[in-house]
Amino acid sequence: MSRIWLAVVMAALFIPSLAASQRGGGPTTEVRPGEPCPPGMTEVRPHRCQAPALPAPSIVDYRPRSTLIVPEHPVPKAKFPAIDYHGHPRGNLVTTAEGLEQLGDDLDAINVRVMIAANSVSGDNLTRTLAVIAASPRMKDRVRVFTGVDFGGVGPGWADRAVARLEADAAAGAVGIGEISKQFGLSTRKADGSRLRIDDPELDPVWHAAARLGLPVFIHTADPQEFWQPIDYGNERWLELALFPGRRYTPDSFPSFEELMAERDAMIRRNPRTTFVLAHMGWHANDLPRLAKMMDDMPNILVEVGAVLYDIGRQPRTAHDFFMRYQDRILFGKDAFQPEEYPYYWRVFETRDDYFDYYRDYHAFWKLYGIDLPDEVLRKIYYLNALRITPGLPQAGWPGHDGND
Ligand SMILES: [Zn+2]
Repeated sequence: MSRIWLAVVMAALFIPSLAASQRGGGPTTEVRPGEPCPPGMTEVRPHRCQAPALPAPSIVDYRPRSTLIVPEHPVPKAKFPAIDYHGHPRGNLVTTAEGLEQLGDDLDAINVRVMIAANSVSGDNLTRTLAVIAASPRMKDRVRVFTGVDFGGVGPGWADRAVARLEADAAAGAVGIGEISKQFGLSTRKADGSRLRIDDPELDPVWHAAARLGLPVFIHTADPQEFWQPIDYGNERWLELALFPGRRYTPDSFPSFEELMAERDAMIRRNPRTTFVLAHMGWHANDLPRLAKMMDDMPNILVEVGAVLYDIGRQPRTAHDFFMRYQDRILFGKDAFQPEEYPYYWRVFETRDDYFDYYRDYHAFWKLYGIDLPDEVLRKIYYLNALRITPGLPQAGWPGHDGND
């Protein structure tokens, strides 16, 4: 090919991009390979950046209508009766007869049969709440309550008092411990003023007592890892951190994400007879290979899926494989009690739908996909696993469960 022809071909190739900017696009610039475009510009051709001609919307205002046409299978009610292992019933929902009636209506609408109130209720509050529940013919087998551990003032004598309280709460009818809050590790102080480490050996008598009393320990450690990162435009949780700046953990005031995870894992390993349920999938739903390794290394852990649906639903194939492999060690739980949000969970677990909305934009700016779990796995995640590890749950009347184990 002659040089002239080559020049003509090259010119033809470049005409569209030149024409585009000449038709009224914003200013352009070139970047070197690997260099990002400057702020306000996007790559329109290799190494060529351009600004939009119109002012760019903010991320709270950009709500494109999807033109994708695919089958849609909304799931208002779970396919099998579910146990919500991570319930936070608000206000009077479990403390008065009228509240319980309302809770029953809300749970019926989404096919949650049992809610665990994971509000760490202890002592007189616990016995009062349990009495209200026991007095309701409709709800007496549909709510169970977790007790808590008061981590304030750990020091000499603390463990004996904490164990005595656990024994009393278990005798009163608490079926587990939790939710142990993220403050444990992040900010709780010992009697001597130092930070209470999650793996502090002074706590071991409590974990031993949990094992002896048949109480699973439901624990929330740390938070999404991005909460430790700078609030810049590369942060996946920029919007959440901009809405709730108090959620950011600055390195001068808090232990790092990895420090907390290392302490948590050391505590779990040192107490192999205690069953630990990691709330929010241990905040590793965005790194299922890491979580798989933990599941293999620590047979005494299970994970709960509350408030991390955005991570499960954005990796439908990887999540499907993880849920199949660890189907005996995953529990359904929701966290904040908003009945209208549960159907998003059912749809992710039960369907193979593509590209549907999530319920909370500030958690995730992306769409969800169904992970299409088979019925026998849904049953395990919805109720069988919870029944197995939590002897205090009502064991009768579940499909495929004989009630005697
Ligand atoms: Zn919670």
